[in-house]
Amino acid sequence: MSFLNISHLEKSFGPTRVVKDFNLSVEKGEFISLLGPSGCGKTTVLRMVAGFEEPTSGAILISGKDVVKLRPNQRNIGMVFQSYALFPNLTVAQNVGFGLKVKGAGSAEIRTRVGEMLELIGLPDLGGRYPFQLSGGQQQRVALARALAPKPHMLLLDEPLSALDAKVRVSLRNEIRSIQKELGITTIFVTHDQEEALSMSDRIVVMHAGIAEQVGTPSDIYSRPATRFVAGFVGTLNTIEAEVLDSAIGRLRLAGVETILNRPVPDGTVTLGLRPEAVSLGQNGHDTAVTGTITEVDFLGSVIRLRADLGGQTIAFDTFNTPGTAPPTLGEKVVLGLRSADLLVIED
Ligand code: ATP
Repeated sequence: MSFLNISHLEKSFGPTRVVKDFNLSVEKGEFISLLGPSGCGKTTVLRMVAGFEEPTSGAILISGKDVVKLRPNQRNIGMVFQSYALFPNLTVAQNVGFGLKVKGAGSAEIRTRVGEMLELIGLPDLGGRYPFQLSGGQQQRVALARALAPKPHMLLLDEPLSALDAKVRVSLRNEIRSIQKELGITTIFVTHDQEEALSMSDRIVVMHAGIAEQVGTPSDIYSRPATRFVAGFVGTLNTIEAEVLDSAIGRLRLAGVETILNRPVPDGTVTLGLRPEAVSLGQNGHDTAVTGTITEVDFLGSVIRLRADLGGQTIAFDTFNTPGTAPPTLGEKVVLGLRSADLLVIED
């Protein structure tokens, strides 16, 4: 039995089903991200686990015990919100100690624990400040310390980095992950940012329209997307239509050339997905070569993103900005190398 078991979870607001047959098992100490576009239901799932929202149906088991009827404060869960939600009239130390005080801990115990928590988040000297005297990143660290102080057995993070600027966001995500690993605390993290989910998680649940479309490790989700939605939402993906010549072995004609996938595909036509980094300028020993005409050149610094027209279908790919080498120019005819093993068959 996993630490957290969610089965057949459903939530409707009036006639609208916003979470549909959601199932997930989380092991102790795992870091799981719920990733999806705005409105897909990820916050609603998190709020049901926290106890702020009652499921329409389904079960949520923590350590084998159904918690659906328990109030949030009976679930031993720590939560951090996008908006920090610190108490403005309390000092940092009082904010961090708040949960322990509510639980009736003595002042010496609270002082020790608050000290440990401020040390953990790297702000040992700021206990006497008020939230308005802190930066956004510092406030979010304090919110994390407040959530962790009562030693919850699970941590729920609802878009905790979304309100911060890009630099702080990257450093705080590394910090959150290292604190989570140090404490070994089971964590569910809600985000719409694929980079956050890919870089932080043990596993990702990609959600779309209330449904968990795929659950897998970051590399599974990126390399083997299970649905068209996942393929399009996570990372950049080229899609190419191909004519099926022999469905049993996956012999196809794409962009005027033949290639063999060596795996069965449906009859007729198939949509193939290909990551930009799997396309090389020049055949470079790849098993399939297509020709195209450069239609776009975007200088991005260390890499140059190019687009080529393959006779009605466009493909994006990158080349390194190598000193002394001129990148292709608009209108130039190029040969592109692809590996049939990198072609994903996208099913609906
Ligand atoms: P976001 O990133 O924008 O918060 P989300 O994926 O977390 O999106 P939810 O907040 O879970 O999505 O919302 C899912 C759907 O449920 C949305 O269409 C939202 O409008 C609706 N919804 C959420 N809470 C309520 C509520 N209390 N009453 C009615 N509808 C709600």
